[in-house]
Amino acid sequence: MGETYTLMEVCGTHTVNIFRFGLRSLLPPEVRLLSGPGCPVCVMPQEEIDALIELVEVHRVILCVFGDLLKVPGTRSSLREARARGGEVRVVYSPLDAVRVAEENPDRRVVLAGVGFETTAPAHAVALIEARKRRLGNFRFFPALRLMPPALRALLSDPDLRVHGLILPGHVSTVIGSKPYEFIPRQFGIPGVITGFEPRDILEGIALLVRILREGLPRIEIQYTRAVRPEGNPWGRRMMSEVFRPVSGRWRGLGEIPESKLVPSGEFEEYDAVREFGLSLTPSPEPAGCRCGEVLKGKVLPPDCPLFVRVCTPDTPHGPCMVSNEGSCAAYFRFGHEK
Ligand code: SF4
Repeated sequence: MGETYTLMEVCGTHTVNIFRFGLRSLLPPEVRLLSGPGCPVCVMPQEEIDALIELVEVHRVILCVFGDLLKVPGTRSSLREARARGGEVRVVYSPLDAVRVAEENPDRRVVLAGVGFETTAPAHAVALIEARKRRLGNFRFFPALRLMPPALRALLSDPDLRVHGLILPGHVSTVIGSKPYEFIPRQFGIPGVITGFEPRDILEGIALLVRILREGLPRIEIQYTRAVRPEGNPWGRRMMSEVFRPVSGRWRGLGEIPESKLVPSGEFEEYDAVREFGLSLTPSPEPAGCRCGEVLKGKVLPPDCPLFVRVCTPDTPHGPCMVSNEGSCAAYFRFGHEK
């Protein structure tokens, strides 16, 4: 091939499947893969975990979360530990489950932790719409949903990042389509391919990126055509814009990013748990020695972290990248430690 290409995947499911199916070993040495900020739990800043613990322990709410949030360490503890101390933390499988919990517990305040990217934002929007329709005065929403295109802009603006192309997320793109990524070739001169999740999808996405790079005409293409249309999912986009508005938000590793976080807007503002409970969200220092922030920016690989395996494992995670199944550190731990 001659040229050497560094490609970054920015979706946790891609990261896991690249490891699970041993795809790196199938690639020629000229193609190097890096993992980016594609795991929603990993990019949550520590103060958001602290605020969720405050909701449980100080305000005594019933907190509804997806399971991978339980072990993520906050400044002093995790939601799993808060639950062990008697806090009511319930694992839900859909945002609508939290609406049901609120309905079944009219004398308790119930908060849904809204964590994820555009993929799950429409389902969270539906939960707020449903809570409003059912006039649930005890239901609140903790906004931690994040948007992928602003994070990619922030990532690519880092002059130290040397990436030739992006393997773009299939799930997020089913909702937003390909148009929100068009700034990538225009502003940064590199291509992106929206890629599916089967091993052959990922390999095809990589081959497509290499072909575009060799042609020298950077653009956005869709490999995952069976699920993604250029305009995305109009219903999902409408749900998001009806219920939420983008505001500036902090990301672990990437810092403050304008217009990158969704909060309830208009008639849904009354459901915002941050406003209701006066949560401060003051930035707090990340765990000593943890290099998760640099891992999320593709600056170091998990084995470069001195705590990797020696101290930090999925059973004893020191940082969020080791907690979530989609975290890079957890993927390296489970499927191989090689760089
Ligand atoms: Fe942080 Fe653990 Fe990953 Fe090191 S191995 S960067 S401590 S999550």
